Amino acid sequence: MKDFSEFNDRYQSDLDGCSFDTLAIRAGQQRTAECEHAEAIFPTSSYVFNSAAEAAARFAGESEGNVYSRYTNPTVRTFEQRLAALEGAEAAAATSSGMAAIYAVAISQLKAGDHLICSASVFGSTIKVFEAYLRKFGVDIDYADLLDLKDWQNKIRPQTKMLFLESPSNPLNDVADIPALAGIAHQAGALLVVDNCFCTPAIQQPLKLGADIVVHSATKYIDGQGRCVGGAVVSSQELVEPVIGVLRSAGPTMSPFNAWVFTKGLETLSLRMKAHSENALALAQWLEAHPQVKKVNYCGLPSHPGHALAQKQQSMFGGVLSFEVHGGKDEAWKVVDATRMISITANLGDVKTTITHPGSTTHGRLSEAERLKAGISQALLRVAVGLEDIEDIKRDLGRGLDAL
Ligand SMILES: *Cc1c(COP(=O)(O)O)cnc(C)c1O
Repeated sequence: MKDFSEFNDRYQSDLDGCSFDTLAIRAGQQRTAECEHAEAIFPTSSYVFNSAAEAAARFAGESEGNVYSRYTNPTVRTFEQRLAALEGAEAAAATSSGMAAIYAVAISQLKAGDHLICSASVFGSTIKVFEAYLRKFGVDIDYADLLDLKDWQNKIRPQTKMLFLESPSNPLNDVADIPALAGIAHQAGALLVVDNCFCTPAIQQPLKLGADIVVHSATKYIDGQGRCVGGAVVSSQELVEPVIGVLRSAGPTMSPFNAWVFTKGLETLSLRMKAHSENALALAQWLEAHPQVKKVNYCGLPSHPGHALAQKQQSMFGGVLSFEVHGGKDEAWKVVDATRMISITANLGDVKTTITHPGSTTHGRLSEAERLKAGISQALLRVAVGLEDIEDIKRDLGRGLDAL
């Protein structure tokens, strides 16, 4: 048999100095004796050994190698290494969903008596996991206004171990000052965790801005075509290690098939994020000029309060925007119902454009007062702009808007 470590070294040895676009296509690939060009997929739950002695050594951790796919799988490892390279990190751990990533970070880093400060504008299920499970095990939680640094600072206690945020936020596109919040966290001896799902590393690399841990829902832009559910935790080896411990014992690991799809997704990530950003900016500008539109929330617009900060810490502005129509829920629903192409779904990060009415879907469980405090009126619609021709997207949204 050929010596494959040498064969793979040939292809991986010169990647260190390579740029994002190269790493997105090359990092982490380990070819097999079949010399395949594209990434192989290993749909196997377990692995065999050459002898009883080898099995014993592998189980004892004395020899390196695969034992069982809840622990390691070559396809999953390729995805992890490539994503880590793109975030500029030492290590990544792939998970069965974005929520599994968030859950694994929380339970590996926090214990009874600890205190967590979470941005008030995070994904609904994130708050659900924190409230339903962390509290049950004695972790105290406060919510801070994403944009109000004093609010974060005031909520710090001696027990504070973690700050958690998303930037830009959903659905208002508020932009957090990540370096400033990293400073507040580190001064308190706490970790800053950033959910980088909206930007992906093609747009924003939170670890380089001072964050300690990045979590992803790979379900969104990393797949990019709405096929698989998955997630990842990206950080230093030291901080990923306890997360891996949770995944290996509790089991929310990524399937090899999904890892293969996500790996292929990473290869086109920067091209897609550029196209999403271009379409979203064009749509935001068109909406801002539309007489039936009251307000557009997109950090790529100079009118957005987070524009300057987004320009500083992001390389592009992403694919998600929201806007308010004149009127209320009836008018907003009319725009949704008049579409004939755009998908009516709360999902995002897909080549297909999606529209949702946050007030009755993603934020529907909030009371009227909570919703208004969060800045989400019933006239608000969120669009995750896909890669269809921008003129066709405008036409589909314009049908309802023009009829108001
Ligand atoms: C979708 C999403 C999640 C959860 O990811 P799943 O893959 O659905 O579990 C977490 N954070 C953000 C910002 C999301 O959009």
